Amino acid sequence: MTLRTRFLLTTLLAMLAVALPRLRAQTSGPVLYTGARIITGQDRPPIEQGALLVDGGRLVRVGRAGDIKAPTGAQVVTLTGKTIIPALIDTHAHPSTDREGLVRDLQRRAYFGVGALMSLGTDKGDLAFQMRATVVPDGARFRTAGRGITTPEPGRSDVPYWVTTPEQARQAVREQAALKVDLIKIWVDDRDGKYVKLSPPLYSAVIDESHAHGLKVTAHIFNLSDAKGLLAAGIDAFAHGIRDVDVDAEVLALFKSHPRVVLVPNLPDRGVATDLSWVDGALPPAELAKLQAGAVDHPEARAAFALQARNLAALARAGVTIALGTDGNTFYGAHQELEDMVIAGLTPAQALVAATRNGAALLNLTDTGTLEAGKRADFVVLDANPLDAIANTRRIHAVYLHGQPIDRAGLSAQWRGGR
Ligand SMILES: [Zn+2]
Repeated sequence: MTLRTRFLLTTLLAMLAVALPRLRAQTSGPVLYTGARIITGQDRPPIEQGALLVDGGRLVRVGRAGDIKAPTGAQVVTLTGKTIIPALIDTHAHPSTDREGLVRDLQRRAYFGVGALMSLGTDKGDLAFQMRATVVPDGARFRTAGRGITTPEPGRSDVPYWVTTPEQARQAVREQAALKVDLIKIWVDDRDGKYVKLSPPLYSAVIDESHAHGLKVTAHIFNLSDAKGLLAAGIDAFAHGIRDVDVDAEVLALFKSHPRVVLVPNLPDRGVATDLSWVDGALPPAELAKLQAGAVDHPEARAAFALQARNLAALARAGVTIALGTDGNTFYGAHQELEDMVIAGLTPAQALVAATRNGAALLNLTDTGTLEAGKRADFVVLDANPLDAIANTRRIHAVYLHGQPIDRAGLSAQWRGGR
């Protein structure tokens, strides 16, 4: 062996040693996950004593444990007493706009069982599109609405388009469509009288042009009257609930005549002190302490929550499709939103369908959101049943995205050390 060969060999072995811990965590070949209760994300009762057969990142079979045999050579993972849900889909967030921050945001989402995250209208430049095309190791999938559209809001972010004519509105949509955004976002809100909000001729132009490009439009709203105008104009989704007054018969009728519209209620702070000890795996202890110190009672917030909760319950009762969104950049927010939706009146099963199947459909993620053969193996293994208590979604045993386990222990060690 020449010196050079020996050097190459040593280098190769060193590289392998670095790569090995990572390789060990990855699975290859078929794996049968068996014995758990499976909540499929569809409108059906859970499968008690269920099994998932996963191969090549996909679900090959989903059913009762007794009906699915492990193929020869398959690895078998016994999950008796656990509950499996589809990975969560967050349809409304504003994650970091720098690469390092966004990678961390996506990994923190994956750590907490979120499989896909939609950045809703505050992305300028190329990064969001590069990240959408990237598989972030141990990270959630990323989707973007690029730059959203509003009227001039001087002093507020200038990332969105500021449009004042229907032609400008159409041009904005054409530019975003050329970038192949996943959704078009608009804001229809005068922010307590500070701005002139997007008018019906402007948002109608956005909706019409978006539909001509095969894109859905989702609207940030505050007022009932704007919800009505937008429904009449053909809006596809609301990124917030109705926040000024209780819903009325007219808006219920409008929702009924537009049955494909999706509501993302995005409930506000309940104003109640909360225990955040369950997020301790994702933060250095000092940061968790700061976060916990802020999670105190805010009685003044409770009326706003109560109003939006009533509106959510009324719209859900009327059969409106609900999906989950958290707004902002709270990496554990999906679990709080699930609980808030249940406090508002959804059943845990309805809240889970909203957070999985319905969110995936809104984002056109046809390969995830439910646990059925052919879909990606994106799922969360829980230590307790969320149908008993929705907060059990926080008791995460493991997360799998595209069939691969998220290295939760490795991520946690990194973050708790403050990196
Ligand atoms: Zn938002």
